[in-house]
Amino acid sequence: MIVLTNVRKMRERDYLYCMKLLFLICLAVQSFSADSLDERVEQLHDTIISIDTHNDFAMSLAFPGRRSTVAKGQVSFELMKEGRLDAAFYAAYQGQGPCTEAGHEKAKFLADSMLRALHRYALENHELGEIAYCPEDIRKLKKKGKAVMLLSIENAYCLGEDLSLVEHYYNMGVRMIGLTHNGNNNVADSAMDSLERHGGLSPFGFRVIQEMNRLGMVVDVSHASRKACLQAVEASRAPIMASHSCVYNLKEIPRNLTDQEILAIAAKGGVVQISIGRYFLSFLPKEQVDLSHLVEHINYVVNLAGVDHVGIGSDFDGGGGIVGVENMGKMKAITRVLLEEGYTADDIAKIWGGNVMRVMDAVRANARSF
Ligand SMILES: [Zn+2]
Repeated sequence: MIVLTNVRKMRERDYLYCMKLLFLICLAVQSFSADSLDERVEQLHDTIISIDTHNDFAMSLAFPGRRSTVAKGQVSFELMKEGRLDAAFYAAYQGQGPCTEAGHEKAKFLADSMLRALHRYALENHELGEIAYCPEDIRKLKKKGKAVMLLSIENAYCLGEDLSLVEHYYNMGVRMIGLTHNGNNNVADSAMDSLERHGGLSPFGFRVIQEMNRLGMVVDVSHASRKACLQAVEASRAPIMASHSCVYNLKEIPRNLTDQEILAIAAKGGVVQISIGRYFLSFLPKEQVDLSHLVEHINYVVNLAGVDHVGIGSDFDGGGGIVGVENMGKMKAITRVLLEEGYTADDIAKIWGGNVMRVMDAVRANARSF
């Protein structure tokens, strides 16, 4: 009451002056809290290791003339630096073709060419980044301030029916293999194929997983059928990963994971890497899909399986990208929104790469036990 009376007593000029002052104070407080949140994001990225587990950069790198329907240019060492993304799995992808000798030869040619192109890229840009072959390499390169390239294969089609090729790809630096793409191959059934060929994994597929376990490669079940996913979890002696998948209960498409799959992957110590793509996240039009949808999927896995079993796999240059996270240079926006969501620094460290490092460490330790 006293305040009100005083205000009334003020001359109009004084009142306006007070209001202006109040407005400026509000503005200052607002920008201070925004600045401090940005600072927290930067500080967090100084200490954590951030890993994105899937991109399709290699295709346009190895075959620049090839036509593609998806946006490109979302991936580079420079963008990783800009977005404070420490490490990323660069996939050598082949679309599914016929399971014939000629088909397999072509798939191997594609995979080999893309892996060679990635090695070349890392060599030509060595002042910015390097290839890592084990978790220790990632930690060392982070300390040196270098972007970390990890190599993976999307679609074991390129193995044909030759088990020795698993080691061939290990020797080329590959540390993760996705069992399928959008069609069945000789290893496993795909989530997107209308027909079931093996009822999950083929007998050859089981041997491939054994061989990957022996060598120390992460089994990636993104794109695999539900049965293939559950059988791979069961068959693998080490934790596995879904490198770029989302939650079926939030978007009911075959490529997303059911609760049963998420819980099985988690029970084995594995991790579900939420994709930054509209295709996986929401039925809304592209321009309306943003960070809120990404966080919704992350929260879902956290609530279902725990914060130890979720991470991020962008699918950049292969269809990924949402409003607010259009390329690797925008990755800090995810950290910021996770802080706003109430995740602790420890949680964010796990989500951004700690969980993937744990899986990679376990896969390596398991390989040593053979
Ligand atoms: Zn994919």
